[in-house]
Amino acid sequence: MDKIEHIGIAVKDLEKSNQLFAALFGEKHYKTEEVLSEGVKTSFFKTGPNKIELLQATNAESPIAKFIDKKGEGIHHIAFAVNDIVSEIKRLKNEGFIILNETPKKGADNKLVAFLHPKSTNGVLIELCQEIN
Ligand code: ZN
Repeated sequence: MDKIEHIGIAVKDLEKSNQLFAALFGEKHYKTEEVLSEGVKTSFFKTGPNKIELLQATNAESPIAKFIDKKGEGIHHIAFAVNDIVSEIKRLKNEGFIILNETPKKGADNKLVAFLHPKSTNGVLIELCQEIN
C-alpha cells in the first residue's frame, strides 16, 4: 500500500461545505464529480500534497446518506493509493479483511476503487484506489 491518496468527508450540503472548506484551506475545490453508481456528488480540494474529498448523497439509498443518518457529518473514509488493486485485494482478503467489492469499480477522480468493511479495520472504512491510465 502506498501513501494516503485522500480523506473522504461526508457532508449534507456540498455547496455550503465547498465554501466552508475553501475558507479553511484558502483555496477553492479544483473539481466536482458525480458518481452515479454510489449516489454521490463529490468535490476535491488540494492542501499541499494532500487531497480532501467531500461527499454528498444524491439519493436516500446512497451509502453517504446512510452514514450521515447513523453518525452525522464527518470523516467517512481514508483512501490509500495502490499500484495493483487486484493483487492488493487478493492479499488483504488472504489476511482476513472483508472486502466490500472484490471486483474494483470506477470511482471519482479517474480511479479504480475497492472498499474494506470497517468491521474488519477497527471501524475505519478504507478505500483502495488505483489511478486509471
Ligand atoms: Zn474516496
